Amino acid sequence: MDILYKSTRGSKKTVTASQAILKGLADDGGLYVPTEVPKLPVSLASLKDMDYKQTAYMVMREFLTDFSEDELKDCIDKAYDSKFDIEEITKIREADGAGYLELFHGATIAFKDMALSILPHLLTCAAKKNDVHDKIIILTATSGDTGKAALSGFADVEGTGIIVFYPKHGVSHIQERQMITQKGGNTYVVGIEGNFDDAQTGVKNMFGNSELAERMSEKGYRFSSANSINIGRLVPQIVYYVYAYGRLIKNGKLKPGDKVNYVVPTGNFGNILAAYYAGRMGIPVGRLICASNENKVLYDFFKSGTYDKNREFILTSSPSMDILISSNLERLIYIISGEDGEKTRALMESLSDAGIYSVTGEMKDKLSVFYGGYASEAETASCIKDLYEKEGYVIDTHTAVAASVYKKYRTETGDDTPCVIASTASPYKFAGSVMRAIDKSYESGDDDFLINELSRISGVKIPKAIEEIRSAPVLHKRLCAKDGMQKEVEDILGL
Ligand SMILES: *Cc1c(COP(=O)(O)O)cnc(C)c1O
Repeated sequence: MDILYKSTRGSKKTVTASQAILKGLADDGGLYVPTEVPKLPVSLASLKDMDYKQTAYMVMREFLTDFSEDELKDCIDKAYDSKFDIEEITKIREADGAGYLELFHGATIAFKDMALSILPHLLTCAAKKNDVHDKIIILTATSGDTGKAALSGFADVEGTGIIVFYPKHGVSHIQERQMITQKGGNTYVVGIEGNFDDAQTGVKNMFGNSELAERMSEKGYRFSSANSINIGRLVPQIVYYVYAYGRLIKNGKLKPGDKVNYVVPTGNFGNILAAYYAGRMGIPVGRLICASNENKVLYDFFKSGTYDKNREFILTSSPSMDILISSNLERLIYIISGEDGEKTRALMESLSDAGIYSVTGEMKDKLSVFYGGYASEAETASCIKDLYEKEGYVIDTHTAVAASVYKKYRTETGDDTPCVIASTASPYKFAGSVMRAIDKSYESGDDDFLINELSRISGVKIPKAIEEIRSAPVLHKRLCAKDGMQKEVEDILGL
């Protein structure tokens, strides 16, 4: 069966999977969704015998039906290799009554590697299939994690180049070092004198600039995006929820057909949406627990049916979840509206005009699989400390938001369904916040010291991603004003 992709905003035009990956966003401004959600082609019992790459192929070929077997397997082989520091690619660590699905064993030690290590290959393959010969230039604004994962994924991938803009004074020291030491002749990193919103606006303006697009095209370039709304990122994320279910069967934690709960620390709603799709494919999902930090716009939405971004933006210790517009929620809104593109468009226009929209009671009733929760900064810190003291296991701040919400969920509902918590970053990436949560005396101390201490107390070897940046030379020194971004791009591309 061929799966096509259509927009959430009502346009009747459908495109193939490879076209959807190339375009990123539909022409009417909507996000692409599959015309149908395929069912798992194998029995639940057989999942326990499949390794990560086999699971990836099984899931992805159901969604990306215009890729051939060879093309897909080639992309998977190039993505899930020794860039990951464990052969299994991801694994479940049991601690304190939950399974922590460690999604941070890739090159940049955050879960974004799970999708961004394959996206470049899907994209270049999609370009070939559609006779696109332009060099694809990935343009990205980042608040930290996406930029590095995209740089690492696209570095030295033939037929592509990548330019990342980050707020010079708005990312952690480790995050900045990770980016400015990036190797690869096709990678460019630019710090801007401005905040993340300025970087994001500058990038959006360039995407919308038709005169620039024309000059690009004359030189044989075209822009594309590695943003999480691309289905080329969503589909690879479904894989690990299917894989995790197989691991739980193998470990005797559940029998085929038993329910599982997934807890996901959420920002842009991409990761948890992938878990939802895994459920639609046939994984027996009990509840999907959506965990927010103090920017709890999603918690309020699940409670009231009203999405309201008109509130203070709070900087927390889980910066990758500091977000007030969860872009991927649009796909869920479309589904619960009964695939009504007009209605979805109206709600999204209300969000961009007034910053608020409400769904109907009927739509809200369809959200019962989701449970929204949030954790304060103090709860997040004490969760890290408690788990460390009880189990000797150190988790990062984002994962701790999820673990803290799960604890509240258990208390509130008494639901003891086996549970998998998406562990989205290595604690090394946020060593400062993590060490201070464990012991206040770490209030002072530079990164190097805290990293060594983290290794000492956790007994976990310092990841290659961290060792590398300690000694790596700085390769990127570009800086610009917030209104100078386009000039940088023109300079880099020789336009
Ligand atoms: C991006 C990110 C998240 C949020 O994921 P979404 O798909 O945006 O909901 C959570 N944790 C970490 C460490 C991240 O980098």
